[in-house]
Amino acid sequence: MKKFNLAIDYIDYLIITHFHGDHIGGIPSLLLHLKDCGKQNKPIQLIGPVGVLNTITNLSNMFFGSRAVDMESIELSINDISELELDDFSIKSYPMRHKPESLGYKMLFGDISIGITGDTGYNENIKLIADNVDYFIVECSFKEEISSSHITLKEVLEIFAHYNCKNIILNHLSNDVISEFKKSDVPNHISLSYDGMKIEK
Ligand SMILES: [Zn+2]
Repeated sequence: MKKFNLAIDYIDYLIITHFHGDHIGGIPSLLLHLKDCGKQNKPIQLIGPVGVLNTITNLSNMFFGSRAVDMESIELSINDISELELDDFSIKSYPMRHKPESLGYKMLFGDISIGITGDTGYNENIKLIADNVDYFIVECSFKEEISSSHITLKEVLEIFAHYNCKNIILNHLSNDVISEFKKSDVPNHISLSYDGMKIEK
């Protein structure tokens, strides 16, 4: 983050999709950084599936013997769609098909809307997340179906490309997906994410 001038000393919200290590494993170090180098003068709000505060607290305790900075949580149903109105933005969560607690999100920041699937296999809620958003961020782990708990490039091109959203950004990319993407005939509104990517209206 420092490399991209995203060195942070304060965080209002951390929004978590599910509890796999490649998605939450860096959080304890981030919390420690905020404690040692930051200006965190109020608790971080964790937004995530039921159990998120316990999970992050336990992980931080295991890594560093403390949770480093104060945290509070807004814990969302893993079975139903939930909706929250916060001071700076609104957020709606949707159960996904990956781990039992997996959630995708649709968020509205001023006039910019962003949908994110997190890790998931194809399911009907994905279309609700994508509907009419400026940026639809989709995990894309495989070229074709290897597991029913991840999205494939084939599904993105055959199904999601026709959804009613302005831009699709693929993340959680395997090398296979990157090379297949480069040789495929991909619509202009679909792109690959990269480290340090910034999105603007
Ligand atoms: Zn995962």
